[in-house]
Order: sequence, then structure tokens, then C-alpha cells
Amino acid sequence: MPLWSELTRREFQKASRNTHVVLMVTGALEPHGMHMALGTDIILPTYLAEKIAKRTEAMVLPAIPFGDSWSFDLYEGTVSVSPETLVSLYADVMTSVFRNGFRYLVALNGHGPNATLLEQAAKKATMAGERVVIIVNWWIDLAKDVRKIVLESPEGHAAEDETSELMFIRPDLVDISAAMKKSVKTKYRIVSAGYREELYPAAILGDPTLASEEKGRLIIEQAETELVELISQLERGEVPLEKEPRS
Ligand SMILES: [Zn+2]
Repeated sequence: MPLWSELTRREFQKASRNTHVVLMVTGALEPHGMHMALGTDIILPTYLAEKIAKRTEAMVLPAIPFGDSWSFDLYEGTVSVSPETLVSLYADVMTSVFRNGFRYLVALNGHGPNATLLEQAAKKATMAGERVVIIVNWWIDLAKDVRKIVLESPEGHAAEDETSELMFIRPDLVDISAAMKKSVKTKYRIVSAGYREELYPAAILGDPTLASEEKGRLIIEQAETELVELISQLERGEVPLEKEPRS
């Protein structure tokens, strides 16, 4: 069970010889409507990472719990870190991981705005040697086909998908009676600190009232399967490039 933080130095030496792959969870601490836990974006990918620690030899770092939550700064419960700090933090952690001799770092990300910051950090951290960062925005990259089948409304923030997933793994952290449907559509991407409450009303984008534990189970189980496949592929030294079939 290679949870990085629980190993002694000797155990680490041994465990790190068994794998090329490290998993880094990145999340956020911010409201998800009134009906689910502030730490949802950490709790969901951490659940998957702990499954990976049990099922593979990949090393799992402690999660980085804070993300760029600028959109929800005005709401109680948000703790946000600036993009500049996050890029530096992610790049430093990645560089340090690679210095320990690993080849592949899977950034298992649970929060939208972190994605481009992880990408910037990865550009810096992979400049030397055989180093690869794979950014997995798990709520859109994993279990795509299952989502298409089970979800009745579009994916979103604190929406049907995310609420179902948390209901499956931590039902005690969801109060479905407080769930509300909210969505704001704009033709263009509007960015304004002064319009955050209009753009993200009640910190919900979608329809959580359609959530169910069963939908969550189907998504999470498939996500776990795909993540195990990705780790196995990396352990074989294969970067997951989807090549066009030869004609
Ligand atoms: Zn979320």
C-alpha cells in the first residue's frame, strides 16, 4: 500500500524500486451549492487515489487540498490560492518527485481551474530527462461512456454528476434536501470579479436534484478501472498516445 506519507525511508527505497509512477491529487476547498461538502474536489480524487494505492504499485502523494477558487471567493468556506503560487507549488512538487527517480507523474485533478496551472507547471518540470506529466481531469476524462449513459443532465459544478459521486463514496457529506437546480448560459465567456454571483449563483452549475448513489457508483467504478489501466500502461513504459490506425 504505497501511500508516500506512510512509508519509512527504508520502505520508500524499496517501494520506489517497484514503480515508475507517482500519483498527485489536486483539489480545492470551496462551496458546492448548499448541499455538499466544501472539500468535494479533494475527497473524490483522493478516494480514487487510495484505491490505486491498494491495487497498483504506484506511489500516492498526499493531496494538495487548495486550488484556484477565485470564482467562489465571495462565499463562506472558500480558501483559495493564487494561480502564481499554485504553478510554483505544482512545479516544485513535480520536480522533487522526478528527482526521486520516477518517470511518470499522474496529476489526478479534481478542480477545473487547476488544469491550466498544472499544465504550466508540467512544462517547467519536464524540461530535463525522461519525465512525463499526465493531467487527468478525472470528472471529464474518466468514465466518459458511462456518464453519457447514466446522466440525465449536463455535468457541472455541484451538479448531477458530482453530487451522485459524493453520494456513493460519502453519503454522510451530502444533504440532498438542500439541492437546487441552477444554470447560467452565456454565449461568450464572461470574466468579471463584479459578476461572480450572477455567473455562479449559489455555487451550482447544473441539476443536483437528479443525483443518485447508483449513478455515482457506476461512474466511480468505471473511473477506477480506467485509472488502473492508465497506471499499468505507464508501468509498461507506454505513454497513452492514441495513434491513428494505419490505413
Ligand atoms: Zn467540485
